[in-house]
Amino acid sequence: MEAQQRMKELVEELNQYAHEYYVKDQPTIEDFVYDRLYAELVALEEQYPMLIASDSPTQRVGGIISPGFEKVNHEIPLFSLNDAFSEADLIAFNQRVEKALGKEVSYTCELKIDGLSISLRYEEGKLVRGATRGDGTIGEDITVNVKTIRSIPLQLTHPYSMEVRGECYMPKQSFIQLNKEREEAGQDVFANPRNAAAGSVRQLDSSVTAKRNLSSFLYTVADAGTLHVTNQADALMELDELGFKINREHRLCQNMSEVWEYIQEYHQKRSELPYEIDGVVIKVNDFAQQEALGFTVRAPRWAIAYKFPPEEVETTIEDIEWTIGRTGVVTPTAVMTPVKVAGTTVARASLHNRDFIEAKDIRLNDQVIIYKAGDIIPEVAYVIKDKRPESSVPYEIPTHCPVCDSELVHLEEEVALRCINPKCPAQMKEGLNHFVSRNAMNIDGLGPKVLAQLFDKGFVKDVADLYLLTEADFLNLDKIKEKSANNFLTAIQNSKTNSAERLLFGLGIRHVGAKAAKILLEHFGDIPTLSLATKEEISSIFSIGETIADSVVNYFDNKEVQELLVEFQTAGVNLTYLGKTSVELSEVTSIFKDKTVVLTGKLTHFNRDEAKAIIENQGGKITGSVSKKTDLVIAGEEAGSKLTKAQSLGIEIWTEAQFVTAVE
Ligand code: NAD
Repeated sequence: MEAQQRMKELVEELNQYAHEYYVKDQPTIEDFVYDRLYAELVALEEQYPMLIASDSPTQRVGGIISPGFEKVNHEIPLFSLNDAFSEADLIAFNQRVEKALGKEVSYTCELKIDGLSISLRYEEGKLVRGATRGDGTIGEDITVNVKTIRSIPLQLTHPYSMEVRGECYMPKQSFIQLNKEREEAGQDVFANPRNAAAGSVRQLDSSVTAKRNLSSFLYTVADAGTLHVTNQADALMELDELGFKINREHRLCQNMSEVWEYIQEYHQKRSELPYEIDGVVIKVNDFAQQEALGFTVRAPRWAIAYKFPPEEVETTIEDIEWTIGRTGVVTPTAVMTPVKVAGTTVARASLHNRDFIEAKDIRLNDQVIIYKAGDIIPEVAYVIKDKRPESSVPYEIPTHCPVCDSELVHLEEEVALRCINPKCPAQMKEGLNHFVSRNAMNIDGLGPKVLAQLFDKGFVKDVADLYLLTEADFLNLDKIKEKSANNFLTAIQNSKTNSAERLLFGLGIRHVGAKAAKILLEHFGDIPTLSLATKEEISSIFSIGETIADSVVNYFDNKEVQELLVEFQTAGVNLTYLGKTSVELSEVTSIFKDKTVVLTGKLTHFNRDEAKAIIENQGGKITGSVSKKTDLVIAGEEAGSKLTKAQSLGIEIWTEAQFVTAVE
């Protein structure tokens, strides 16, 4: 259950990051954080292959196609690469390869250029099309833009017809210059050269691309047969002769220890290179062997990308702040002298818990090495003990809650320190924030600042009090005018009719996430019935474990909680599950099963991504263009050529309203 939940979270999170990275060219997290979450998902999927989601990023090549560009079908798909993060990963890769081939293998090592994949089509030696990788099968047509990149030959030295693939990148110097100009112009800066390159080549106005000083390294031919060479090292030489710019740092290695040496060497040289690299790509050199090994759904089995470990930077711990969460967990945060790490300025890092501080012996005024990892939050890697003054003393972990001053406890089996005072104002405020949050009661607009004021002024002592608020209460708060007060009241009023799983989740019962809340209420029908259920009854539900059952029973076995339920009832808050039962759900889930769906035109009820997620979650596949293989076209307002084509091919067409009725 926990693994399933975690896998779902990872898929959602990674897909969101991929959207920011591939579509907007503005990632919100570092690549290696993404890689780490991705590796966590891969490990879980290996353990639970039955739970692999169809929209998992492991099941497809990462990119997405943006509207605005013509689509290009890649007859020979472009792939991603599997990652390696250690020598052990490489040894395992080599073992897999040699086991499959039954002999020792030599590898070409190439630098992993941190740019974006491009595919160039030449007809009789003439450049006719340039495309991005997109999702591997469909890319974006960027012909006009690639023609502005000077290192890309418009005419080859031989009249070959072929498709060549490689990386388009922005040299470090150009990237620094570009960001300086953007900063001066008050524009957003690009997070890294890769995003700058992607943002520059995926421009609808090619004159912008032309100004961006992009370059390229080409490294492969889609149909290797065209070149009459039998291995990767020779292919690179041949590409060079044809007029392409190739990266000359590649090396043929006879075994994994030579590969490892190459990696070490370029890890050292990395900062001196005029372009950004994020690792080394190791490819089985021989084409026949590559062919024998083949591909998985998203990557070749004959290559692997070794990713360099993340950038590390030195700074000083100025203070350690302790904050209290909804469940009373007290979390320390290091306040540091601001420093730039991998492109952004960092001044705070979570220190997670008391054990973390003690294990690393982190003290005030320590010089530390930090890097970005563990979600978006930077991490303290270690203390530079040599730089510690002799007068330094170990950091004293607080014994009392910094907000309510009650004694902190360290519960057995937990790493966290907890404030167990249920009336601790900090916890109660966090509880309110959770209650109104999007997946809980979804009370729009009621943010932490307003809630804190309502709490501090004594208008709201527990979550049920929210339903007793009046306009006068809101007008009593700082900077709240009638209009906002009424908006808040309407949002609160509207939340009364929510299906009760939202309320159940909003109560913040330990271990009861949004999904568990739904499963529980789907079974018991309403909160009062659930509140009387025994542990055995609860844990008999498939996918609800003993921990949740225990937690639910303990929670409801509490006079104050029973009173809270009565308060909700009196205020007219719905306590009944209004969602679909399992049977209905499974019917809904199969609507799009195995159907290829095209979305076109402007949707008003959902945005594109939401519509796409709904269809994919219900077993459908989204494609960008209408063909005979399309099963269904969902046409929003102002749908154009795709709708016409669907009509001419006699494909089933739904309006947005039909779609909404079908899925709601
Ligand atoms: P990848 O970048 O890890 O590896 C595949 C790509 O490497 C190829 O498509 C190719 O473009 C490139 N490459 C560079 N030099 C090469 C060479 N010499 N030979 C062959 N290929 C070479 O995989 P990906 O699927 O393109 O992207 C996934 C990566 O993107 C992740 O590992 C992550 O680092 C990053 N990402 C980051 C975020 C984020 O939010 N920060 C989101 C999504 C993806």
